[in-house]
Amino acid sequence: MNERVGVFGGTFDPVHTGHLLLAEAARAQAGLSRVLFMPAHIQPFKQDAGISPDDDRLRMLSLAISDNPGFGVTLIEIEQGGVSYTIDSLRALRSSLGGMRLCFIIGTDMFLMIGKWKEADALVREFDFAVGVRPGYLHGEAVAKAEALKQSHGTRVDFVDNPPIRLSSTELRECVKNGGTIRYLVPESVRRYLLVREREGERRFAHTKRVVDLASEMAKRFGADAEKAALAALLHDYCKDSGGGAENDVAHGAMAADAARREFGVTDEDVLNAIRYHTTGRAGMSRLELIVFLADTVEPGRTYDRIARLRDTCRDDLEKGALDVLIELKLYLEKKGLAVSEDTEAAIEDLRHRCRKEVTIQAIASPPSFRA
Ligand code: ATP
Repeated sequence: MNERVGVFGGTFDPVHTGHLLLAEAARAQAGLSRVLFMPAHIQPFKQDAGISPDDDRLRMLSLAISDNPGFGVTLIEIEQGGVSYTIDSLRALRSSLGGMRLCFIIGTDMFLMIGKWKEADALVREFDFAVGVRPGYLHGEAVAKAEALKQSHGTRVDFVDNPPIRLSSTELRECVKNGGTIRYLVPESVRRYLLVREREGERRFAHTKRVVDLASEMAKRFGADAEKAALAALLHDYCKDSGGGAENDVAHGAMAADAARREFGVTDEDVLNAIRYHTTGRAGMSRLELIVFLADTVEPGRTYDRIARLRDTCRDDLEKGALDVLIELKLYLEKKGLAVSEDTEAAIEDLRHRCRKEVTIQAIASPPSFRA
């Protein structure tokens, strides 16, 4: 009956440990049933700030909060588009949640500016606030402001005792650009995302994201681990632009696997092999290896000849799909006078065998029926 849902508005470019610590402390201390992160489409005070696309900010949020059942995301401001005004979004969200009482979570810096927000009077009259410590801003002033709002508008303000951490998204973006370390300042999944994005640049990273999406979807469909598929897909091209000319076309798989181990602490051999062999295939490919290999080859941005047929085969059968793709690859390399790697030859042999076996087993399982 007294349930309150927390709503945490922000740009989250990227979401960082300061945000997560505040959201979790607010959830626990202000008695909130859950916290919904509400990424702004365009924040009124950051209209010219060169903010990352919605898609990137959402992906990082989702990576950061996926393991906390008390956290969720509302897309209300992203879907609305335009400049995001908190009063409009909170009213819309409240009605979509059947009139639920909402508590807006906010840091001291923003709370001190609340008088400048759209329909500020209505905002503090209609909604509760949970105010968290943000180092560098006067807490005493925030307490005085809360007292004044209580007297003038009856506003309920809970102060949250979150672990103070002097950290901002702007500083983090700068740090990534300058090659500094952001370890422990964001969840590891967000750190990986930011470093891959920085290194690959817009065009290649767009391909990487499509491979991540397709590999995750295929993993779910074929009963593999979707998180592992997404991780291998995210890192598969990390060394694609490392120079080395034509040799790099094959070598970047092995280089990326080494970087995954060294720079990102990946120890899962299946993930490392999926990265390592995504350029060549190999004999004895695991389900995860087949998925990452195929997702890279048939992701929706690819446009080469016969792609439609390959996509069809991959939809139904990973091994047949990989065999088709590898034969195409071999023919292509031979036509160009380029060497076919031993791993590719071995993969084709192995998959031929595996596919043949599959046909035989199917034939035994459903022998042809004869009518008398
Ligand atoms: P930027 O540096 O780009 O301004 P930011 O780090 O302030 O970004 P926002 O997404 O704008 O992040 O902040 C959303 C909310 O999180 C605001 O209410 C802000 O006060 C709060 N917040 C941000 N950083 C911290 C922090 N380190 N500790 C506590 N609260 C924070």
